[in-house]
Amino acid sequence: MPLTLDEIARNVSHIKDEIRKAALESGHPADEVRLVAATKMNDAEHVRAAIAAGVDICGENRVQEMLEKQALGAYAGVPLHFIGHLQRNKVRQVVGLCELIHSVDSIALLREVSRVAEMRGLLQDVLMEVNIGREDSKSGFFPEVLAESLAEASELPGIRVRGLMAIPPVCKVPEENRPFFLQMQKLFIDNGGKKYDNVRMDFLSMGMTGDYTEAVRCGANLVRVGSGIFGPRQYT
Ligand SMILES: *Cc1c(COP(=O)(O)O)cnc(C)c1O
Repeated sequence: MPLTLDEIARNVSHIKDEIRKAALESGHPADEVRLVAATKMNDAEHVRAAIAAGVDICGENRVQEMLEKQALGAYAGVPLHFIGHLQRNKVRQVVGLCELIHSVDSIALLREVSRVAEMRGLLQDVLMEVNIGREDSKSGFFPEVLAESLAEASELPGIRVRGLMAIPPVCKVPEENRPFFLQMQKLFIDNGGKKYDNVRMDFLSMGMTGDYTEAVRCGANLVRVGSGIFGPRQYT
């Protein structure tokens, strides 16, 4: 059963409290951490309830689903981000519509985003996805090629790199992800110290329902929470 709108509102306020506490522990200003609702498989009504309850941003995974919900006004009032794996042939539908693409996982995709954005006279903000657990099942840049990939990205006129994103390996307890989150924090800080054109390390996107407090303690300022807001996804 999908959650009621009241349950969604309670979940959002609980998560925001947890984020605030974790941010205080990490010494970060709590209002710098943004809650991205991972809205995949949840309908427009539930998405609107999450927005009314105070999520800062909506993040979608699939282009078709996003366009359908957008047509229903699901995201009114908050920025829309793209957080799922993006195929090159779908780039045209995302550029300009999403304020930030979290999941740019290859130079080829970066180039395509830049090409489309430039053609439209836009500057598209993106994050570089890092395959921090070196998993075959995940995409993203390996940590050791990140610096050279950022240098390549800085040559592309249609994009602006705003930070990094990661999805660490699935694990049983949130603390197990701490080493991955700390490695991400280090990459974020180290690469933020280098001065490339079109590259600014503003956003570190990591942490989901099971581990967002741990991620915030390790410096995440965008957390992407789905089932913690909407309940378990209904696979049909
Ligand atoms: C679904 C999804 C999330 C949220 O996952 P939950 O465990 O439901 O919080 C976060 N990030 C990405 C990229 C996702 O696809």
